[in-house]
Amino acid sequence: MRWRARHLDGVRSPSGVRAQIGTAIHAGAAAFDQATLDGYPISIADASDVLVNTLDYPQEEVVWTADDPSKTQARAIALRLLSRYCELIAPTKRYIAVERRCDNLTIDVGNGIGIELTGTTDRIRETHQGPAISDLKSGLRRATVNGDVVSVRTDGPQLGVYELLAEQTTGLPITGPAEIIGMQTRANGGIGFQTVPRTREILIGTQESPGLLQMAGTMFKEGLFPPNPSSTLCSEKYCPVFGHCRYHN
Ligand code: SF4
Repeated sequence: MRWRARHLDGVRSPSGVRAQIGTAIHAGAAAFDQATLDGYPISIADASDVLVNTLDYPQEEVVWTADDPSKTQARAIALRLLSRYCELIAPTKRYIAVERRCDNLTIDVGNGIGIELTGTTDRIRETHQGPAISDLKSGLRRATVNGDVVSVRTDGPQLGVYELLAEQTTGLPITGPAEIIGMQTRANGGIGFQTVPRTREILIGTQESPGLLQMAGTMFKEGLFPPNPSSTLCSEKYCPVFGHCRYHN
């Protein structure tokens, strides 16, 4: 129901501060990595300028609540994580694409239904097992203070989508393990990376069990979008119809 409200009915909720911190870190890290990839590296200070500009001039409305860090704190959290990313994470990666906008890909899920996937992959990197996806995730619970990454159940399918899109767009077989680069958006938050197994299997299914895309195709065809009050996104902050949805109580 939340997905339907957002994507079919176009009901949006304003961005939160943590999401804006993530957007700003993405922008700064992309500037840093793209410059390295182009052979004209920039300093962390230069990447920080990109971050601050993104944080100060958001492209959508941002709601600050009493539980959120102040603007000064948000800037400090984001700058610290970007600095740690540039010093500790980026030098360990061999990126071959940064923020690559992918061509749309239509998947035939049977019963005359095609699902069009769209997206931008954060990074494609080289590994011993071939090209692989890296995805930057930030949030209060995306890593521990020690930098252990916390995965959620939707990570696998989401990374599977990026693998399919990246393969089509670049022509490269994405055979290496996908990974999450996780950052905790607290004052002393940790940062680290971890691979995510079975990305495409869950998405496109096996001979024994259907994939999530096939199930989604059935839902689209039937127009059936059930509520999910146990979702971590079932809250006023993340669901735009929370105020009048009857199911979360
Ligand atoms: S309030 Fe909860 S159950 Fe209702 S649509 Fe939103 S996420 Fe789904």
